[in-house]
Amino acid sequence: MIESFSLFAGWLIDGTGQPLRENMFIRVEQGLIHSVRRARQADMYAPDLVNCSHATVLPALLDAHVHLCMSGTTAEELRRKQLNFDFDMAGKMIRSHLMDHLTYGVVAIRDGGDYAAHALRYKHQKLAQDQLPIHLLAAGKGWRSRGRYGRLIGRPPQDGKSLAEAIAEQNIQADHVKIANSGVNSLTHFGKETPPQFHAGELTAAVRTARNKGLRTMVHANGKKPVRQALQAGCHSIEHGYFMGPDNLQWMADRQVYWVPTAYSMKVYADLPDNGSSRADVARKNLDHQLEQMAAARTLQVPIALGTDAGGLGINHGQALSEEIKLLMTAGYSLEWSIRAATWDAARLLGLDDELGVIKKGMPATFIVARGNPHCLMDSLCPPEQLYIRGTLWSGGDTRLT
Ligand SMILES: [Zn+2]
Repeated sequence: MIESFSLFAGWLIDGTGQPLRENMFIRVEQGLIHSVRRARQADMYAPDLVNCSHATVLPALLDAHVHLCMSGTTAEELRRKQLNFDFDMAGKMIRSHLMDHLTYGVVAIRDGGDYAAHALRYKHQKLAQDQLPIHLLAAGKGWRSRGRYGRLIGRPPQDGKSLAEAIAEQNIQADHVKIANSGVNSLTHFGKETPPQFHAGELTAAVRTARNKGLRTMVHANGKKPVRQALQAGCHSIEHGYFMGPDNLQWMADRQVYWVPTAYSMKVYADLPDNGSSRADVARKNLDHQLEQMAAARTLQVPIALGTDAGGLGINHGQALSEEIKLLMTAGYSLEWSIRAATWDAARLLGLDDELGVIKKGMPATFIVARGNPHCLMDSLCPPEQLYIRGTLWSGGDTRLT
């Protein structure tokens, strides 16, 4: 059914970063936003009015970095089991994670890869029959160098092939390419950097090959050199980017390359109760340093798209995104710009900005209704009261959102 109705929003955050507006009237015609204007007294008597005068309305959210094939559980045994799931088991878990995303108002996600390409296979074999109204972009298996970090998310090129040759021959319907070009952050030595996984020329050829196939490249990179190489190679986004340094931030600002800082993953390590005090201390310092980099990114105007790394230890699908938004605010961004990083900017990075990310005339009426005023938005997003997708209230097949 194509929906038409009027909506009175107590507060509206439109996704562009502009200041929030109070008492707004939104007209939805056949699933599209027909008009957005300040409400008048008479609007309260519109016959098909959805009264959200008690709530904040904002675009539905996007998470630019997840791993659907894993849950956020901290139980090591369970995490080990999940790594050995066959497609049938993995598919059930992926479906449940997609439901989690929708429950938290997340309608588009970019998967950063898994060792068996389960998420990509799920997209092509199961998503349509499960009838979940979510945009799933998946890398399939990510790429790494032999003997280096990334076993959980991908594999090295085989049979003596270069990375570019391996990408060229990859005959699957992936939505983007994921490459790991550094290790992970140390929890024992603050600021310890790892060397790049690939030579500069190899990485450049790989990104060019992906581009020729019409694919964008997301690069896992921490540390100055791995990030610089990925940027010089022409990648579309830097994932994590811990300890990348001011020169790389400036490069990203100059060329408007996206950064997905995944700060919440480090906060999880800092807050883990059984992590040991020295590891927690290093995690806390790593987090503080990342927040300083995010503050610098704001000054330099580096585009940021929020991604959670959901599926990582302690990072729950759907729920984690509001934590990532909170950390962007901690780094000094306004509420409106923090929301923009999880809506319009994320939609642009994912190539979905003609469908998602902004509440304005002509766009699909895909938005969240969160109870209360914007000051309590971070709490009221967990989960939001309602999710509309193209003008239709999503009920999730159960009563959670109705
Ligand atoms: Zn990841």
